[in-house]
Amino acid sequence: MLLMPQFLIPDVSALTEEFLKENGIRGIIFDIDNTLVGFRELKPTEANLALFARLREQGIQYAIASNNNKERVGAFAEGLGISAYHRACKPLGFALAKLRKEFGLKSNQIALVGDQIYTDMLGGNLAGMITVLVEPIDQKETVFFKIKRALEIPVVNRKRRKDAEK
Ligand SMILES: [Mg+2]
Repeated sequence: MLLMPQFLIPDVSALTEEFLKENGIRGIIFDIDNTLVGFRELKPTEANLALFARLREQGIQYAIASNNNKERVGAFAEGLGISAYHRACKPLGFALAKLRKEFGLKSNQIALVGDQIYTDMLGGNLAGMITVLVEPIDQKETVFFKIKRALEIPVVNRKRRKDAEK
């Protein structure tokens, strides 16, 4: 099921050393909006920076692929020293394929971490990556996102049910 995330986590802090090791994850491609920060947050948070530092220590490669524009992604990624694609056109796989090559890893060693089913999860699954869905950071959302989220709810619930059965 191409829309189904392989993992559901409350937020990116759940990407612990154990979680990454257990699942053979050597690289991470992050979404920005509602995944690393809320829409109004222009720069990485202290928690984001601590996470990135830990990933570097662990030898985990990481990068950003956002469907947002150049200004947003550029401002967020400035000074981080990592690859950051804007207008990544997820679920299309061009940016994801470029990052996989940059990492020098196999698709199944890379986690795509995002908050949206129809862009992040579909894109990651189509690319053969490990898909990790986070709960969106912002609670206040536009009508567009409310509708979109309503469409996503059945997929998330199905995954939760599956996890509960394990
Ligand atoms: Mg997002």
